[in-house]
Order: sequence, then C-alpha cells, then structure tokens
Amino acid sequence: MGGIGVSAMSVPLYADDSHLTEFDATVIRTGPRFVILDRTAFYPDMGGQPSDVGVLRYAVGEARVTKVMKRGQDIFHYLDADIPPGTPVHGIVDWPARRWNMRRHSAEHLLTGLIEALGEPPKVYSDLERLEYQSSGLTEEQVVEVKRRFDEVVDEDAPVRVYYEDRAKIDTSGDPRKQAFLRKIPRDVELLRMVDVGTYASTFCFGTHVKSTSEIGHLASISLDEGKKGKRVVHFSLNP
Ligand SMILES: [Zn+2]
Repeated sequence: MGGIGVSAMSVPLYADDSHLTEFDATVIRTGPRFVILDRTAFYPDMGGQPSDVGVLRYAVGEARVTKVMKRGQDIFHYLDADIPPGTPVHGIVDWPARRWNMRRHSAEHLLTGLIEALGEPPKVYSDLERLEYQSSGLTEEQVVEVKRRFDEVVDEDAPVRVYYEDRAKIDTSGDPRKQAFLRKIPRDVELLRMVDVGTYASTFCFGTHVKSTSEIGHLASISLDEGKKGKRVVHFSLNP
C-alpha cells in the first residue's frame, strides 16, 4: 500500500464505468493547486478526448477541478484551491460536459469504421469534430451515404463493447492501422483495451464511450473538404 507522499497508482474508475459521475476517494499526494487521488472517475486529457471538469467536496470546503492530466501512472487533478494530503474527498464529474465529449468521441469511432468499410486507407488524424485522410478518393456522395448509415446504426442502438485483449494474441497482419497503433503503445502494456461499436468499428482505445449507439444521437452535419497537401477532411457535428 502506498502511503501519503508516496507515488501510488490512481485507480482509474472511468475505465470500468464511463457513466460513473460521483465517487469517494482519498488524497494521496498534493502540490500547489493539484492533488492525486487513490481512485478517480475524472477522465484525464488523452487519446484526443478532453479532460473532465467538476468538483471535489471535503469536510471543510469544495475545490473546482479545472483540468485532469495523466503523467506516468499518476492522474493529476488541477484545482482552484489546495487540499491537504490524507483528506477524504467526494468527487463529482460535470456530467453534461463528459457526456458531450463521450458522444462525440464515440461518433468518431463509428465514422472511422464506416469510412474504412468503403475501402479507404486508414485516417491520419481525427478528433471530436473531424477525420483526416491522406491521398483519399473519398467523394461527396460517399459522405452522404456515410451519414445515412451512421443514423441507421444509431437507430439500431448497437451495443458498444469494451474488453481487454492480450497484446501478444492480437493479429495485426495486413492491418497497417493496428500495426501503427501498437507501435505507439509502450512495450510494457500487455493488456490492450478494445472498443467495438456493434460490428461497425473496432479499435484500441483508453477513452470513455457511450453504452450503445442510440446514446450518440444523429449527425447534425457532415461535410467533405480539401485539407492541406491534398488531404481530405471529413467534418462532423452531432445534435446537442
Ligand atoms: Zn475511444
């Protein structure tokens, strides 16, 4: 057991339950305007998904969590106040903000899968608003079709499944996207977190996701633009 002042891994509660919004924890390390907790439901800024915000309540006050960052095994909660080590806290994640991030991030997964199914090469970049492709033959008509398919999958309420796979058992042969992704993950990570959106998308991801596609909601817009150096950029937005 790590004592106060000792670096100890924070249990990432968000990894097992992306709909957990309140939790109890203890401050195990502090610094100026930050704390590290023994467990947390606050998702840190990583994998293209922004960090959560919210509050930490404790016996004599409340601190706003303004940003959460993961460094090594530690999850830093940046606050507008200082909290002493050893303090028990009750964390409350700002759910509307998290849900909006989660819906857009899950949409990014589904769009990636649907565009891949058209035979496109792997995307070179994506975030909560766009996907970028190098030397792609993607057409306006295909993007219109992708929107129709996306909304269909949302209506179908396909399950989003999160599970762990042994790195050694993952077959990456003939899949440049998986090969590139695996290269970026540190060698000592043996269990990879997989996320499947129905049968339409499957990838490694450490982020937070909706439970099923109806939670994502329909696309409000999708468009195809020319990016720099011949890139094709798919912009998308969801209904709020
Ligand atoms: Zn993800």
